[in-house]
Amino acid sequence: MKPYPVTVIDFQDLFPTDEACYGYLQILRWSGGFVCPHCSHGGAWKMKKGVHRCKDCRRDVSVTAGTIFQGTRTPLRLWFQAIWYAVNQKHGVSALGLQRILGLKSYETAWVWMHKLRTAMVRPGRDRLHGLVEVDETLIGGPKPGKRGRGASGKVLALVAVEDREGTKQKGIGRIRFKVIPDASGPALKDAIAEMTEPGSTVRTDGWKGYNGLKEKGYEHIVVQHEEEEPGCDPTPLVHRVASLLKRWLLGIHHGRVAASHLHYYLDEFTFRFNRCRARSRDKLFYELIRQALMADPAPLKSLKSA
Ligand SMILES: [Zn+2]
Repeated sequence: MKPYPVTVIDFQDLFPTDEACYGYLQILRWSGGFVCPHCSHGGAWKMKKGVHRCKDCRRDVSVTAGTIFQGTRTPLRLWFQAIWYAVNQKHGVSALGLQRILGLKSYETAWVWMHKLRTAMVRPGRDRLHGLVEVDETLIGGPKPGKRGRGASGKVLALVAVEDREGTKQKGIGRIRFKVIPDASGPALKDAIAEMTEPGSTVRTDGWKGYNGLKEKGYEHIVVQHEEEEPGCDPTPLVHRVASLLKRWLLGIHHGRVAASHLHYYLDEFTFRFNRCRARSRDKLFYELIRQALMADPAPLKSLKSA
């Protein structure tokens, strides 16, 4: 059997009980062998519910400590089912959909779970984009259709970066990144680009002056000017394609009801899906999300809500 479930039968075979789920987390988290975080001893007894008891200092160490599962009162199997469901819906799930399919009593629980999963979707220290990268800002959400990004209010401004693989073996759109930015000023744009894109890459933008000075930051810079006399000409078509997919997704799955302060969670989910669902490793989505859930911070309710 594969080390991760591909079909629902695999899922049931791998995770018949809560203990099986804890066992799975232990394998993923302590694949190199258990080491006690208190005394660095390597030996431990396996207790119930994913707890290892150190043979030296006798302290208990839970496999869920410091992960998004920390302190959960829900059976782990239900968590696994939520993750299974979330990764297998092509376009993702809303909190309401998750509540319905798992039979959760409260909407709030479903909402918190989805947000915890979204925090796990950003791989800590993930790679930056490289090669030829198209970059542009887009406005997301808000009640009114705003004018061209820079300076409009009531919406969230995000920088979108898209790998352009045309002319390489893979072709078309590569990986994407989003970053919420305070404004379209030069420093905000260049900080975001540096966070999302490997130095040495070629960055393609429109003629906005905020992008001036990318060369000094270690990037090749291609500027595509707007052609005033050609209204159909689009200097950043890839970004616009990705941004319109994102907006359709926000409307379709979440009915556009996303608070501006929470938008970055949704951007993370969209990015995770976009970058993985097109990869050949689609089967590994479940495995990858569990692995990342073990690396992510516990993200308690308070910090989620105040975000
Ligand atoms: Zn110990």
